Amino acid sequence: MALLPFSEETFIDRYGPHLNYEPVGGWQVSGTPDRLVKTHCCFCGVQCGIQLKVRDEKVVGFEPWADFPVNQGKLCPKGVKRYLQNNHPDRLLAPLVRTHDGFRAAEWDEALTKVVDNIRRIQQTYGKDAFALLGGASLTNEKAYLMGKFARVGLGTANIDYNGRLCMVSAGAGNKMAFGIDRAANPWSDIPLAKCIIVTGSNVGECFPILTDYLWRARDNGAKLIVIDPRMTPIARTSDLFLPVRPGRDSALMNGILHVLVERDWIDHEFIAAHTVDFDKVREAVATYTPRHTAEITGVPAANIIKAAEVWGEAQTSMLLHARGIEHHTKGVENVLSCINLVLATGRIGRPGCGYGTITGQGNGQGGREHGQRCNQLPGGRDIENPRHRQEIATFWGIEEKDLPQKGLTAVELFDAINEGKIKGLLSISFNPMVSLPHAALTRSALEKLEFYAAIEPFMSETARHADVVLAGSLQEEDEGTVTNGEGRVIRLRRSVNPPANARVDWQIIVEIARRLGKGAFFPYARAEDMFSELSRASAGGPVDYAGITYERIEENKGVFWPCPNTKHPGTPRLFEGGKFMHPDGKARFHAIQYRPPAEDVDADYPIFMTSGRVVSQYLSGTQTRRIGPLVDQYPTPQVEIHPILAHKLGIKSGDTVHVESRRGELTLPALVVKTIRPDTIFIPYHWPGDRSANRVTNRALDPISKIPEFKVCAVRVSKSTVAPRVDVIASGARQSPSTNEIASSPEPVLSVAQRSRRAPRNDRSLPLLRRAIGHVTERRG
Ligand code: SF4
Repeated sequence: MALLPFSEETFIDRYGPHLNYEPVGGWQVSGTPDRLVKTHCCFCGVQCGIQLKVRDEKVVGFEPWADFPVNQGKLCPKGVKRYLQNNHPDRLLAPLVRTHDGFRAAEWDEALTKVVDNIRRIQQTYGKDAFALLGGASLTNEKAYLMGKFARVGLGTANIDYNGRLCMVSAGAGNKMAFGIDRAANPWSDIPLAKCIIVTGSNVGECFPILTDYLWRARDNGAKLIVIDPRMTPIARTSDLFLPVRPGRDSALMNGILHVLVERDWIDHEFIAAHTVDFDKVREAVATYTPRHTAEITGVPAANIIKAAEVWGEAQTSMLLHARGIEHHTKGVENVLSCINLVLATGRIGRPGCGYGTITGQGNGQGGREHGQRCNQLPGGRDIENPRHRQEIATFWGIEEKDLPQKGLTAVELFDAINEGKIKGLLSISFNPMVSLPHAALTRSALEKLEFYAAIEPFMSETARHADVVLAGSLQEEDEGTVTNGEGRVIRLRRSVNPPANARVDWQIIVEIARRLGKGAFFPYARAEDMFSELSRASAGGPVDYAGITYERIEENKGVFWPCPNTKHPGTPRLFEGGKFMHPDGKARFHAIQYRPPAEDVDADYPIFMTSGRVVSQYLSGTQTRRIGPLVDQYPTPQVEIHPILAHKLGIKSGDTVHVESRRGELTLPALVVKTIRPDTIFIPYHWPGDRSANRVTNRALDPISKIPEFKVCAVRVSKSTVAPRVDVIASGARQSPSTNEIASSPEPVLSVAQRSRRAPRNDRSLPLLRRAIGHVTERRG
């Protein structure tokens, strides 16, 4: 039943993406607002403060929120255009029920009856675990908690996971293994105090733009910045030392830097002895990673490996920051642990200007992984396989421990189980796996095999197109709640407007399904705050302790950092002060890491590395940002970034159509010849669906611990294509009138295709610095 009812073009015509634009003259012309609502950006984990301007129950613009300490009024391109997702012509305004030739609007009773009947039918026929749930890391803490409880208590299924499985889980696992807690160690206000900063695998300037300001402030204070990445990203261009690592070799590089630190005795013996365990094993493990050997593995010149160790070793204070670039690997956890080894060995953690952090990608990348919507987790960051944790939560929820499901399948495994016929039904919320999972053909085949699929979404996503029922949910600005930013600061989202027409607040949909399943007594929530109050009590005494956090305290303090075990506790901006870690003995753990190659390395048949990532104007699977005209204009369609040396070898020029093929699939896109990438690697941004999806070719191989897929490295072959550049189906599908799913009116005119096509794509971003850095690599590679 999950086969698509009609073509992509028809979907786009009816449900978008269409492009929403600001009024002629800019958003300021929309008049005096009825109110300004202090809330937060709906996109990345920086969670910038913003004031949404509301007029006639529509978000019509924004004002800076200068008092909010994280961004002090600053916003990135996505932040200043985020208001255009509201009052959008594509907004789903009522539940949609699948018919033989498409979807029709339905009443809530009909749609929810269909959902509940199918949950019951599938669970009675195939067992409880045959119905699965998928959540998201853009959900509030309250919804993340609700999803976990709904799965275990409402449905009794083990199979719930979330899209953070594609994002934060390697970092989370590494943090827990090393520190006994999964949270960034420092408030970002520590960054400007550091004298050396390593940024590895993080395109900070495009993915977390406002965080760039903290790095620049550090540089203004005299810090040296070292950036490690296969691409010379914008932040790399301002670095003191750029290490263009060969894709998939990150742990080897960290071992190599630590080797030099050990050799020069730039390690903190006192700290290691007092506060850590197992350094000897690490010292032994890095002994063979001489600069020469490390250079052979990583492609980074030996002199620059030594230089990195010198800069880090001689600094009095230092921070190491990383993101998905080192985490999206089959050894993502090992990469994270190799970074932590460097920080611990030099004792640079737990004091001002000294620390470590993983930068969360999604708006609630931190909180979304704390409250129980992961397959292996219970509220308060508890472990679903730990008997004591199970008993604590079973007692708190008022159920028998034996009735609490065991660990379920992770997101990618869950799709494999659908393909194998083990899972028959699915309910998803804020997750678009058709775009975001690797090996898109397998994802599509899984969706087509489901007996029943329901999606809760504010817009028709590429995945929701496969649904039997689409439940019109809420946008971030249409609900109350909390999120936890990349520092560990719990902040308030405030409702700016109500959901339009017959759309509903997400969590109320879940609660109503639970009620119809006869489980309403377990979900007695009238307000989001009721859920927050319950989740904070549930977290008490757990690894993630929110017990002392209330809406009032968040309001008063512009955020409260967890752990916060009681209402008198001030919160904990900086972890590990005094060298006190969260393992039972108070000590951090070193982990000896031996480099191993990626699951798929280059060879004679597929000789080029492919890596994927984001561009500044788009966000994740693009369900929101591919509908915002000015953001699409900045980067209208994915392009294959390719170095001039490789391009010359293949006879490719910027604008040519190139064919990229891996063992799993292929795609054809325009080339963008840039000097900002290694000559052995191409880069494709992943925000687009269908035949423009980078995930047609990416590798589904998983990290054995975190179960994150290896998005950041696979092997491809590239050739110039004779096929004419593809017409942008999304842009050409844009129209000047609202869709058939139209809302009353939009103040935003939609530009014509001709107007939009006059806007130039991003240009070549070459820099002399990269020429120097990568030139060396080229010479070495002959
Ligand atoms: Fe939004 Fe992140 Fe940009 Fe801030 S940096 S405005 S949170 S996308």
